Amino acid sequence: MNPLIRVIPAFLVRFFASPYVAGDSLGKAIEVVQKLQRERGLLATLDLLAEDIRTDEQARQNLDAYLQMVDAAAAIPAAARPTLSLKPSSYTTKPLQHGGDAAGSREAMFAIARKAKQHGVAVSIDMESRHWTDFTLETLRQMHAEGLTHVGAVLQTRMNRTERDLESLPKGCRVRLVIGIYREPAEVALTDKPAMKERMLVYAERLLQRGHYVEFASHDDSYVRRFVEQVVPKTGVGRDRFEVQMLYGVPRERFLADLRRQGIVARLYVPFALGWDMAIQYLRRRLDEYPAMVWLVTKNMFLRR
Ligand SMILES: Cc1cc2nc3c(=O)[nH]c(=O)nc-3n(C[C@H](O)[C@H](O)[C@H](O)COP(=O)(O)OP(=O)(O)OC[C@H]3O[C@@H](n4cnc5c(N)ncnc54)[C@H](O)[C@@H]3O)c2cc1C
Repeated sequence: MNPLIRVIPAFLVRFFASPYVAGDSLGKAIEVVQKLQRERGLLATLDLLAEDIRTDEQARQNLDAYLQMVDAAAAIPAAARPTLSLKPSSYTTKPLQHGGDAAGSREAMFAIARKAKQHGVAVSIDMESRHWTDFTLETLRQMHAEGLTHVGAVLQTRMNRTERDLESLPKGCRVRLVIGIYREPAEVALTDKPAMKERMLVYAERLLQRGHYVEFASHDDSYVRRFVEQVVPKTGVGRDRFEVQMLYGVPRERFLADLRRQGIVARLYVPFALGWDMAIQYLRRRLDEYPAMVWLVTKNMFLRR
């Protein structure tokens, strides 16, 4: 992460990155999810911002929150029901990137996945930094072996290992394809963005051919178009085998409306927080990735006046 972004005070990070967060309660996030569906025909995946866990109490609260999110999602009719996205690091005070053993994380994810299955709610396991890749994919395989086939994966095209990982995914599982937001060293990953995006097209084609449901997650209109207009037709799959995903808060209204007019499923990743301190890591990453946000938010503030 850019050292400058790391030292911006938390209150400023919160201010500049707030358009990316749906609110500070589950109720507010559900309102956003329903509004997106009602007014723009968009589906959602709900994510509780909960990183950098310091106490067992926080880890337990995150698990409880996700169990409540299952109930809230299940209360929405199936056609408009949000999926849930979760991060393995949210349930442990011993994160792998700091040499820990992720104690408690796998058990918590299983508890959420089992309850979600009972209630007809789909779940995706976000992919975190390279320290988590083996753990995450292994957990996913164990879940599918237990019949928890409603749990989907995320693959990051920047990682060189992804070509191999793609071959070892559970048969037919849902896969969100992203370039990856974590900066990884050149020994294990691409550092050139256009190359990561070209890989998205190549891997999307491979995944569709292997019978996976593909969630193409990018804000780059030109690559989304190439996916929809070139890759999908080449594989001959129908519109029920893929969707396009973007982050809540990134201004893509017209483009998404255009996709919806073509009958393409589009879903927004909708993060919410229960405490702003928990959201700060996520927000710093967004700022690091897209510093121009500072100017956009400032401009909007003056325009509103
Ligand atoms: C639904 C979803 C889920 C994701 N899940 C994961 C995950 O589990 N693990 C992971 O590592 N990464 C995840 N990511 C992040 C992803 O890896 C990329 O970092 C992110 O999508 C940016 O890449 P891009 O393809 O949109 O291309 P970019 O080149 O970054 O973006 C294309 C264009 O979109 C606009 N844009 C992009 N970001 C912003 C912004 N923040 N504000 C305003 N405009 C912006 C800009 O105009 C930019 O030129 C996810 C992304 C999405 C959309």
